[in-house]
Amino acid sequence: MSGSESAPHPPRPLRPATVAVTAGRPPHEPDQPMNVPITMTSTYGATGDLEYGRYGNPTWTAFEDALGALEGGRALAFSSGMAAVTTILDLVGLGSSVIAPRHAYNGSVTALTDAESRGRLKATLVDITDTAAVIAAMEADEDCGLLWLESPTNPALEIADITALSAAAHELGIRVVVDNTFATPLLQQPLSLGADIVVHSATKYIAGHSDVLMGAIVVPADGTDDDVYGALKGRRDLAGAVPGPFEAWLALRGLRTLHVRLERAAANAAELARRLTDHPSVAEVRYPGFGAIVAPVLAGGADAGDFLVRATSLWVHTTSLGGVESTFERRRRWKLEPTTIPEGLVRLSVGIEDVEDLWADLKQALDRISA
Ligand SMILES: *Cc1c(COP(=O)(O)O)cnc(C)c1O
Repeated sequence: MSGSESAPHPPRPLRPATVAVTAGRPPHEPDQPMNVPITMTSTYGATGDLEYGRYGNPTWTAFEDALGALEGGRALAFSSGMAAVTTILDLVGLGSSVIAPRHAYNGSVTALTDAESRGRLKATLVDITDTAAVIAAMEADEDCGLLWLESPTNPALEIADITALSAAAHELGIRVVVDNTFATPLLQQPLSLGADIVVHSATKYIAGHSDVLMGAIVVPADGTDDDVYGALKGRRDLAGAVPGPFEAWLALRGLRTLHVRLERAAANAAELARRLTDHPSVAEVRYPGFGAIVAPVLAGGADAGDFLVRATSLWVHTTSLGGVESTFERRRRWKLEPTTIPEGLVRLSVGIEDVEDLWADLKQALDRISA
């Protein structure tokens, strides 16, 4: 071979599908494995960078590199989405207040109200779609240290104006977190919209196969937020909120196909949202116009919802979402779900099956409700 020893550089910046497939891979060198191995160890030879299994693991690092590249930041892997959420809340100063969507994921809201009940912080729950009201709430609250956003919200599917709210928060010295679980980094990159911290339940779309619990936090990679990265990693080290190496490997394996899974699931969701709108058993369809969650509100309320989730054969009645399989549940079956979520709201997590089969299964159940 003549000429250069090194391979030509691929065009930059790489597009998201290419990043999902390639980021975090071992270098292309003789005898390097194609994929990062699962490094099962609790400790490392002393005096290196890693030292101990709670501080770092090469399988986590590969996952973090890939997710960080997709979000445009620097990622930290956690044992679950809630481990990531509570790690961020742990960094809120004693007695500060947090403004958050009243319809955020109910685990996040419960973590906030629990911290409030212990006197750790104050929680103010708002309608996240009302940008002016959220800004007014931040202006009125001198102690506000953190604006918690989730967009779309789970399960109401409300959208926050991340750009406007981040700009307003920063003028008031308030830090902005976005739970990006529903949108995924392929449909929304909150750091590029002005947010300071992104949080994920990687259990959902990122891992994508309903077989692993994992979470992640992403902060800007430009060095400006090194203190936040260090503080979050410090909390992770101390709390031990770390994923197992096998979990990190599964989540990374899932992330490699995020773009193809999401493309199919979102196309199915758009079609089902359209057909559901015309069905007489459905009073309203919540669907933000992107992503793969659709929430029909059944005209027959709780009874109709409870009937629907028992009357299908393909759709699986289960909590959680974001897997290749189509699943659903009536959210108000959970006691903690706010009463402002309609009783008849059924959250559909649309999978990657054939949409005609999904619709036939849903339709025969819906038809029996109206009959
Ligand atoms: C599931 C979920 C979480 C919590 O994640 P776990 O991995 O279950 O701990 C947080 N936020 C949103 C939006 C979720 O859907």
